[in-house]
Amino acid sequence: MSTSTTPSAKPGTASPAPVASTGATAATGATAATVATAAAPSESALDFLRLDGELTEDERLVRDAVARLVDEQVLPIIGECFESARFARELLPALAELGVFGVSLHGYGCAGLGAVSYGLICRELERGDSALRSFVSVQSSLCMYPIHSYGSEQQKLQWLPRMARAEVIGCFGLTEPQGGSDPANMRTTARRDGDGWVLHGSKMWITNGHIADLAVVWAQTPEGMRGFLVERGTRGFTSEEIKHKFSLRASNTGALFFDDVRLPADALLPGATGIRAPLSCLSQARYGICWGVIGAAQACLAEALNHAAERVLFGRPLDHTQAVQLRLAEMVRKLSMAQLLALQLGRLKEREALSAAQISLGKWNNCRMALEIARDCRDLLGGAGISIEHTAIRHMLNLESVVTYEGTETIHQLTIGRAVTGISAF
Ligand code: FAD
Repeated sequence: MSTSTTPSAKPGTASPAPVASTGATAATGATAATVATAAAPSESALDFLRLDGELTEDERLVRDAVARLVDEQVLPIIGECFESARFARELLPALAELGVFGVSLHGYGCAGLGAVSYGLICRELERGDSALRSFVSVQSSLCMYPIHSYGSEQQKLQWLPRMARAEVIGCFGLTEPQGGSDPANMRTTARRDGDGWVLHGSKMWITNGHIADLAVVWAQTPEGMRGFLVERGTRGFTSEEIKHKFSLRASNTGALFFDDVRLPADALLPGATGIRAPLSCLSQARYGICWGVIGAAQACLAEALNHAAERVLFGRPLDHTQAVQLRLAEMVRKLSMAQLLALQLGRLKEREALSAAQISLGKWNNCRMALEIARDCRDLLGGAGISIEHTAIRHMLNLESVVTYEGTETIHQLTIGRAVTGISAF
């Protein structure tokens, strides 16, 4: 595995180009031997707008702690995990020790940090691999958040501290085989049965689905959509791993089956009524994705910059050619805009002024940005770019899932369209 540079580092300085061409020498077709020595890069491609300067000291400390873990414990193993389709469960204690699970929540063993800190955690984790960020998103935003927001005091005390320590793994079951973009068309049902409930139906494409100890499951009831906490081992609840994925291979994905599962009354999340409840969870997770994919793009760009400095073709390093510099500049443009967007979303979220449509803009724009950068970096690496020895293809394949889950581009475009016209065109 090649290691990627931390976002605060300057990839060009880590592996400086041996020589640099001026416009004049390039135009005359001069060879590497005749061109001038390179000056050190004056800006970091990974933080061109110096947005790290906008972070607080505490935010930088959080970022650096997670970055260290990713460099030391994730990057050395993640290629193997991807290749063998293995979720790196052994990383959970170290992640829990850092306090990344439920980091934005207050109380119950959670750190209660701000939205930008949560974003930076997502960014650093996804610099390692989208699978890791997906795990943390699901555990924190899709499982702990609904328990914290809609659960009873007893549910919070029972589950949140153990989930913060990753002793209990959660999953979030909303999507069904007949179409994830339209969750209102849900077929899974729950009906009251004495004091309790009977749950029937199935869920598809569920992150952590086959390893989770606790599933947050959404079902239609006579009183609207409700959320339930279903423990593994409950009679009638089974899961299957979804194998043969070409994307997010280091993440566990499963299908959940509920065959008339009898649940006690206290399995119901009392505060979650209607589709707004699961959508509010998705907003939390989508916000994290806006940041996370920046990390994937940074890893790809750092790798491509190093490669372009070292790869000599037609008598000069690749990064001496105008065509390659144009491509690198284009990537820096896209990355910088995405970074600005994520930071603004974070500051709005911290003021509790962030709307779902604004999150949609970030999810749509930043996933597209990361996917385009990953694909272009993959190409810049040439044939070597298809090897697991490099990071670009792994990120590129992962991002095909990330652009799809938590709402496809179309769904986010329609959300923005509705926000600016007042008309729902779904
Ligand atoms: P569909 O909804 O069938 O969409 C198919 C296509 O139709 C898309 O291109 C879409 O943009 C387009 N489309 C939809 N509506 C319209 C419209 N009105 N106009 C025009 N085009 C439209 N779900 C969970 O609940 N929990 C999880 O943990 C989870 N993890 C996932 C992990 C992975 C790796 C993947 C791949 C998916 C995961 N999902 C999860 C499911 C994910 O959220 C859905 O795949 C996603 O919402 C899309 O749903 P779908 O796959 O059914 O596609």
